[in-house]
Amino acid sequence: MQTEFDFLSIREKIVLLLKYSERPLTAKEIKKNLGIQKEKEVYEHLYHIAKSSKHKDYQLIVYLPYCRDCGYIFNLEIPKKPSKCPRCKSENIEPPKFLIRDKK
Ligand SMILES: [Zn+2]
Repeated sequence: MQTEFDFLSIREKIVLLLKYSERPLTAKEIKKNLGIQKEKEVYEHLYHIAKSSKHKDYQLIVYLPYCRDCGYIFNLEIPKKPSKCPRCKSENIEPPKFLIRDKK
């Protein structure tokens, strides 16, 4: 079945999804929602969305990932899910979450 959003690119769909989402979403949730194959692909799109949003009327808000064991917060240069905590070596990491809102 065709939907009215079929003409949009994956990247545009991610922007719309995050724009109208009431809460921040993880890459895993975005992947599931839009039927994207790999989580890595979602992160690549998010990277380009963040870059191109400098010239757009919206901004990508990133909720930084953190260690669930010691609370260490990862400062991300590019959107991705860290695999290990540098402080306590735990792999119990809360992944980053994303949201898009209009610039004020
Ligand atoms: Zn830790």
